[in-house]
Amino acid sequence: MARKSGVPLRRLVRADGYDHYYLRTPALAATGGIYFSAGIHGDEPGSTEALITWAERQGKKLARLPLLLLPCLNPWGLVANIRLNMMGADLNRSFHRTDLPIIDAVKRVVAGHRFEAASMLHEDYDGQGIYLYEVQLVRPYWGEAMLAAARSHIPIDPRLRIDGRKAVNGIHRRRIDMKRFARIGHPEALWLHLKHSNRTFTVETPSEFALERRVAAHIAVIEEMVRRVVQ
Ligand SMILES: [Zn+2]
Repeated sequence: MARKSGVPLRRLVRADGYDHYYLRTPALAATGGIYFSAGIHGDEPGSTEALITWAERQGKKLARLPLLLLPCLNPWGLVANIRLNMMGADLNRSFHRTDLPIIDAVKRVVAGHRFEAASMLHEDYDGQGIYLYEVQLVRPYWGEAMLAAARSHIPIDPRLRIDGRKAVNGIHRRRIDMKRFARIGHPEALWLHLKHSNRTFTVETPSEFALERRVAAHIAVIEEMVRRVVQ
């Protein structure tokens, strides 16, 4: 990917016995652009596969898009097909912590950036379709358009309650409940929303669907977001 696109693959940190990598395109400035991450939960391989596949397909165009890409935040978990990291921590509930090398490294790379949008790619074993969480400081909302872009690959999750909370047409827009996050730990999306991003999305494809369809759906969402930010 790095060779074809001209964007160097940079080492983020070594943790849990694996080197972690990221890409920062030359077009990314301190303000604007998009943060994409995937694979923070090791048993959600479609997320990492989608982000890498999409980036590879861009070729030389990748360098001209303003992006920070973190395609595999939990390689140990990916190899083991386990949600958690080697120490049993859920990294997506750990952004308040200061004792985890990977979380520290992500924060160092992101310091000083204010993204127009951030999207975290996930998968859900209970999912019956594609759905997303959206928190924005600005309007209008983008969630509907992002799901519409993906629905030819995977239908929108029809459930009225997802993860114990109300969802409408596959979209959660929940009020930030800091007491709840103090109890469960801080997700990556909360950290980005509070400090670094105007629009923050967590996108979930259903793990029981075929991998190619999950990858295609994630790629459709990535493309819709890039189209909206870059125009
Ligand atoms: Zn996940």
